[in-house]
Amino acid sequence: MPFLFMPYLPFLIPLKTICMRKFLLTLTGLSFTFLIIAQKKPAAPMLNADKRAIIASVQKHENELIELSDKIWGYAEIAMREKQSSKALADYAEAQGLKVTRGVAKIPTAFIAEYGSGRPIIGILGEFDALPGLSQKAQPTKEPLQAGKPGHGCGHNMFGTGSLGAAVAIKELIAEGKLKGTIRFYGTPAEEDLAGKVWMAKDGLFNDLDVCLDWHPDSENKANMQSSQAVIDYSVCFKGKSAHAAADPWNGRSALDAAELFTNGINYLREHVKPSVRIHYVFKEAGKVPNVIPDTASVWLWIRDSKRNGVAAVEERMKDIAKGAALMAGVQYDIKLNSGLYELLNNETGAKALQSNMELIGPITYTNDELQFADKIMKEYGVESQGINGNIKPLEKTKDDPEGGSTDVGDVSYLVPEISLLATTAPYKSPWHSWVVVACGGMSIGHKGMLFASKALGTTMVDLFQNEKLRQDIRKEFEQRKGKEVWKAMLPDGPPPVPVD
Ligand SMILES: [Zn+2]
Repeated sequence: MPFLFMPYLPFLIPLKTICMRKFLLTLTGLSFTFLIIAQKKPAAPMLNADKRAIIASVQKHENELIELSDKIWGYAEIAMREKQSSKALADYAEAQGLKVTRGVAKIPTAFIAEYGSGRPIIGILGEFDALPGLSQKAQPTKEPLQAGKPGHGCGHNMFGTGSLGAAVAIKELIAEGKLKGTIRFYGTPAEEDLAGKVWMAKDGLFNDLDVCLDWHPDSENKANMQSSQAVIDYSVCFKGKSAHAAADPWNGRSALDAAELFTNGINYLREHVKPSVRIHYVFKEAGKVPNVIPDTASVWLWIRDSKRNGVAAVEERMKDIAKGAALMAGVQYDIKLNSGLYELLNNETGAKALQSNMELIGPITYTNDELQFADKIMKEYGVESQGINGNIKPLEKTKDDPEGGSTDVGDVSYLVPEISLLATTAPYKSPWHSWVVVACGGMSIGHKGMLFASKALGTTMVDLFQNEKLRQDIRKEFEQRKGKEVWKAMLPDGPPPVPVD
């Protein structure tokens, strides 16, 4: 920019000597050259020194982060049972100088790793649970690592590690006195089931944050502007009276009849709900043998919609249907809440900050081997390969109704402004919760996405630490989007459902 004003200098300064004049003429000529260059090719925006330090930190720790992610990938532990995975992350955080508090919210695998003091307090979420039955080797053909065992079909091995990589990079800048405030990493277990973050939220663990960040493995790189579905999870149990099904069935009252009438009622209800509603159920208990009238039967049922208040309306109808089914069958009934999740509140101001950092970092590039791996694995799965998309997607507008799926990040987003990133860790349009995602999450395609996430989240956190106005604007948008909705944990009474074994 300063060059733009240089050509006018000679006309402002009296020309006292030839020598000076010559010098100024030369300077003028040079200035015009610079002006032309400046007009032709505007200087590309660059990451500032602190953000470059974040990138350098992630690069310095690259091998450790990959090792950590692969370790958790190998442990592949399911919800509330992530003992080794949680310990690996917490130990690494501790070794990097963060203060670790283990077993928060009465969940042994939940932890907090923190560094710094005072405000702002910036949080970052890290998940690490796997999915049952998805064990898979890091290769493009389907073959389990251990038959029947869990696998990281949602990429949470990378999620936890990538977020921690960003937190460690920020910790280093705070330690060097370049940033002021507190960085707090949340080790959040049980996302796939049992709503780990909601238990942590119920304990008030997110309340003092200025802003929170998260990311999720995906097949595109983007600052996430799409919400998720709100969901409620119930068990509906019926209790009847057993009798011989042929000899004296009139003495029996079938709990299974009630369960069937209940699900029939639910299926009739489908005609009278908004198209955005999803209801799905399974029979958990339906009797043991045909010649005994079943005295117990139970249905496990989820209701989803784009917003919490949409779910609440259907929830009331479901309760009436359960009551009616029990009346018709002449049995008792009980409805038990397992958990519920809010939809994700997006934050465009925060997403824009993230987007600009992603663009400065630039796309992820792939080797020929990685592109061939992607082609082969998609072919093996049975869908056409569309390569791997390492580009940065332009910021999207929020759709009225999100795609199917829910996350307990939604609850956090009702307590504190949340910025969410999606990063490519698998081929474009990969089938999620499948062996394809497990395989890619244990090799370089996944590793590259994870390191990209560490960099994008770390650089965005630099903005959040340094720019008070940005934090205020993000908060303002959060308050507007939240409106009058008061967050309330949708959880049963009592302690979290931690397995005893
Ligand atoms: Zn996930």
